[in-house]
Amino acid sequence: MDAKELNEVIARAVVAQATWRSLTAGERAARLQAWQSKMIEHTDALAEVVTLEQGKPINEARGEAVYAAGFIEWFAQEARRAYGDTIPSHRSDIRLSTIKQPIGVVAAITPWNFPLAMIARKAGAALAAGCACIVKPAEQTPLSAVALQRLALEVGIPGDILPIATGDAVELGSVLTNDDRVRKISFTGSTEVGGLIYAQSAPTLKKLSLELGGNAPFIVFSDADIDRALDAAMFAKFRNAGQTCVCANRFFVQAEIYDEFSKKLARRVEQLVVGDGIREEVQIGPLIDQAAFSNVASKVNEAVAEGAQILTGGGPHACGGLFFQPTVVVDAPASSRLAREEIFGPVAALVKFSEEEEVVDMANASEFGLASYILTENIRRAVRVSEALECGMVGINTGAISTEVAPFGGIKHSGLGREGGWQGLDEYLEVKMIATGI
Ligand code: ADP
Repeated sequence: MDAKELNEVIARAVVAQATWRSLTAGERAARLQAWQSKMIEHTDALAEVVTLEQGKPINEARGEAVYAAGFIEWFAQEARRAYGDTIPSHRSDIRLSTIKQPIGVVAAITPWNFPLAMIARKAGAALAAGCACIVKPAEQTPLSAVALQRLALEVGIPGDILPIATGDAVELGSVLTNDDRVRKISFTGSTEVGGLIYAQSAPTLKKLSLELGGNAPFIVFSDADIDRALDAAMFAKFRNAGQTCVCANRFFVQAEIYDEFSKKLARRVEQLVVGDGIREEVQIGPLIDQAAFSNVASKVNEAVAEGAQILTGGGPHACGGLFFQPTVVVDAPASSRLAREEIFGPVAALVKFSEEEEVVDMANASEFGLASYILTENIRRAVRVSEALECGMVGINTGAISTEVAPFGGIKHSGLGREGGWQGLDEYLEVKMIATGI
């Protein structure tokens, strides 16, 4: 699709949205619910598309399809709860109330790492609210988007309400950000492009949701249940070969258990099965592209040159191509890129700490603030540290924090707005206040 075609798509979306918003919330919910059922019915087919174009193991891809369907179901249910208020008035001759109305035509610009779910959590909320949602999927994973839309069409969600815009990201992004008829953009991706979209949307004063990079600390205190901490670490680090924005990125492990934890983690990581994601037994697929591979490899190589030690993995996997060995690195210098930057690959880099205050400072010494993980059996410490961490989400004794029923999002350079939860619907609604003289 080029700029001219996208302009026509926007024009059709404006017309279609006028009808879509006039449906009752229950009517929109019924279509969304039917879409969700289709997704569940076709879980295996959706998963196969995801694995073939993105590389994640088929089991994870099935999980993503079900997770994506969960957002559609959740927002179908929430559609009917977009309540306004009646407000005790400031004058006896005036009545005050608010209603919530759809913001209009919106655009969802999505990444490749969860090619179904990142669309579902935006489009589900947008359609439930009564918006039209133009989806611009990542160029690496357009087919997952097309598959989702195909199922939506089958249940009577009009194509003009959920158009897919594939093509050159810069060209299409420029149209979507500059066009006044697009009233909101919801973007998930890099902080760099998120900042660009923020700036490009300023002249037309669009509402924005930005879900950007993370650099999650994973803090293991000496009083943690080690097996639980290892389970959480494996999930939070190695899912999708380490390519998620909430991946545990900086492992801080308290001195007393540093050796034990790192050795046990290395033992688990050695057992991960790497290979073609279509095979059921595979747990780690390839990285998304050569740039991603080079980024991970160079960070590991630099850290080793600066004194870090590899406990397992450390380089290209025998499968060749874009497969990188699941890796555990200890003692990466604080100054190394491996210890400071988002890794986005199957590499766990561990750093030792002594005191609670020290580790909170280390965790907060990042411009990002998306997810954090704390492993401790001490309830008072868990409360203290979860309140002190600068981030949008905290997992205490778990690596699994993402669900459609709770708000997902970050602070600082990790972005604006929340997806999922009741908050996720509000992102697509405007509040209108009505004062009535009597
Ligand atoms: P990642 O590092 O995850 O690939 P990007 O931020 O590059 O993240 O991409 C996320 C999404 O943003 C993709 O759909 C991509 O095509 C899109 N994108 C990239 N550059 C631009 C741009 N200049 N304007 C609009 N969208 C863009």
